[in-house]
Amino acid sequence: MANVKLKQLKKVYGKDVIAIKGADVSIKDKEFVVLVGPSGCGKSTLLRMIAGLEEISEGELFIDEEKVNDLSPKDRDIAMVFQNYALYPHMTVFDNMAFGLKLRKHKKEDIKRRVEEAAEILGLSEYLQRKPKEMSGGQRQRVAIGRALVRQPKVFLFDEPLSNLDAKLRVQMRIEIKRLHKQLEATMIYVTHDQIEAMTMGDKIVVLKDGYVQQVDSPMNLFNNPANKFVAGFIGSPAMNFLEGRIEKSNELEFVSGLVRFGIPEKLGLHEKLKPYIGKSLIFGFRPEYLYDKEKENSKELSVDMDIILDVTEPVGSESFNYFHFEGQEDKTFCFRSDSVYQYQGNEKIKVGLDINRLRFFDKKTEIRIA
Ligand code: ADP
Repeated sequence: MANVKLKQLKKVYGKDVIAIKGADVSIKDKEFVVLVGPSGCGKSTLLRMIAGLEEISEGELFIDEEKVNDLSPKDRDIAMVFQNYALYPHMTVFDNMAFGLKLRKHKKEDIKRRVEEAAEILGLSEYLQRKPKEMSGGQRQRVAIGRALVRQPKVFLFDEPLSNLDAKLRVQMRIEIKRLHKQLEATMIYVTHDQIEAMTMGDKIVVLKDGYVQQVDSPMNLFNNPANKFVAGFIGSPAMNFLEGRIEKSNELEFVSGLVRFGIPEKLGLHEKLKPYIGKSLIFGFRPEYLYDKEKENSKELSVDMDIILDVTEPVGSESFNYFHFEGQEDKTFCFRSDSVYQYQGNEKIKVGLDINRLRFFDKKTEIRIA
């Protein structure tokens, strides 16, 4: 198993499409790292550079201590699982899984043993003589994973492997891949556009946007301490609410917008950082999870209170997502999450509180979090 190190990796397509603009990421042995970001952010390009399927324009890539920029894919000791499975339709499951080993001239007994072991791990033992078309989507994806498994590579790469599966199967396969990761103690790098997949699977998540690495962190740190407004809005569902306003100084510092106004207690330790913003615009961010109904729930020790008009409520089972606006500002919608024991009808005025420890502020221009 292996460490993978990306040092200032850049990728330029043709003359001027810069897909990756200098990525620095350290992946430890046995780590499960997810590359996530919206479509076109460069995550597949980055994975394909690690695989050796795309040339590296600039920078260095190390697997363990070896620089592998110029090694061909087959010499990098990695195995990749693709979204479309890439199985040979005319071959049996056994032959599909054995194919790479045959190419590498492994002994027949060795191939048989490895394929049977992988099939056992993946619950495919009874399907080895079937053809891919006789298998379900989930089973085919398992065969594709099996083909990577038999190679016993240093690093596993996954390129949106669950995108073609229905929602329920996706959740099941997500758990299976995590279990496999634990069992194999392998280094895995996994690409997805789905932040929930990223949050639930990754030990570490690399958030990308427009070819730039925005933040590399654990799932909970991304959620609680996003480096900037993009990460704050991308991670978490429903997304963080944002509200523009400015900082004013009376007795204490206050956040003031046309919609809400509240004091910022000194003990939050934000005053020094917020002082340069006195009289200037900045962005206030608050998550739907951290709002609560002042009349229905126990009050937190310190909270920011807001009078809101709840427009529409979306019950999703154990919880509801409630969409609201502030009086006089119908065109801007915010969200607060509530336990579904509390029932709302929509079109009602309520008072919500926000735990003061959950206030987040962002620079309006750079969008970097002020912390
Ligand atoms: P993602 O996987 O995050 O959706 P990609 O890595 O596929 O993004 O693409 C990143 C950027 O590089 C996009 O702007 C895309 O249009 C561009 N790109 C990808 N592949 C090529 C290519 N072969 N030639 C030119 N541009 C490409």
